[in-house]
Amino acid sequence: MEAATDVDGLVAGVLAGERRAVARAISLVEDGRPELERLSAGIYGATGRAATLGITGAPGVGKSTLAAALVAAARAQGRRVAVLAVDPTSPYTGGALLGDRVRMQEHATDPDVFIRSMATRGHLGGMALAAPEAVRILDAAGYDLIFVETVGVGQAEVDVAAATDTTLVVLAPGLGDAVQMAKAGILEVADLFVVNKADRDAAGEVARELRQMLHLGTAREREPQVLSTAASLGDGVDAVWAAIEEHRTWAEGSGARDAKRRARLVAEVESLAAERFRLAVAAALTDDPALATDLVERRVDPYGAAAALARRASR
Ligand code: GDP
Repeated sequence: MEAATDVDGLVAGVLAGERRAVARAISLVEDGRPELERLSAGIYGATGRAATLGITGAPGVGKSTLAAALVAAARAQGRRVAVLAVDPTSPYTGGALLGDRVRMQEHATDPDVFIRSMATRGHLGGMALAAPEAVRILDAAGYDLIFVETVGVGQAEVDVAAATDTTLVVLAPGLGDAVQMAKAGILEVADLFVVNKADRDAAGEVARELRQMLHLGTAREREPQVLSTAASLGDGVDAVWAAIEEHRTWAEGSGARDAKRRARLVAEVESLAAERFRLAVAAALTDDPALATDLVERRVDPYGAAAALARRASR
């Protein structure tokens, strides 16, 4: 009974924008606790208002530095900002993102900025399913702009960063080339590219190579811009902020944002349902210890066994 009161209180706290409640709710998502379903139901009606911005790129390109500068730009306009730093590939090293927080320190005391690192400890669907729920918690808590910063350029990172209204990909000389990104499918999901460390000579070459790869790719509804920054010096950040806002205005007006949100929600539900089904199949398998023997002794064939198992799991 206590757990029931707890979730209701947590939902109320999140809806009231209480930082402690928001932090606890995100922990609950990380741990994949059963209360998650009631939390989700409680907050969902209050979501869909925030603009979300994904930032991805190889470690060291300057994502955190750029993100901190963009947070400043958003705050200058009075927006309430949340930053979710996500490491999809190392579930047990939430601390690895502490470096990112350090760069965010100028915002740490701002009551209208919420910064949080996130790792999955128990969420069955992994980060691809945990991150969207964490974003909804921040959305329900009243943050207008939510940054989702991921580490690395693997498939999991791409999935997480692409599940936002605007996806920004950061490159820098010597770190994660365009070919590597093409392999991870990142060229297709990026709405905006930033070549950072423009104070270094090789940055021009990175931008050229990237433009070439984009040129070879399939035509898009809206061609992504390629901008240059020296984030640590503050150079070019205003232009990136303007391009983000421009993309947002276009996506809202053209219906692209709503179409993307709709597709992503349906995909998320499909994954959640598939995850449930997988668990039900595993449970049905445990309930049938004779199955292996039946298979080995040729009383049942693998396809027949799978069909029977699926039938039992969906009952
Ligand atoms: P992240 O791992 O992608 O989040 O990268 P960080 O923001 O932590 O930056 C990695 C390193 O690059 C840090 O030492 C930054 O100070 C440095 N850095 C960030 N932006 C620039 C830049 O524009 N030029 C140069 N030369 N260094 C930068």
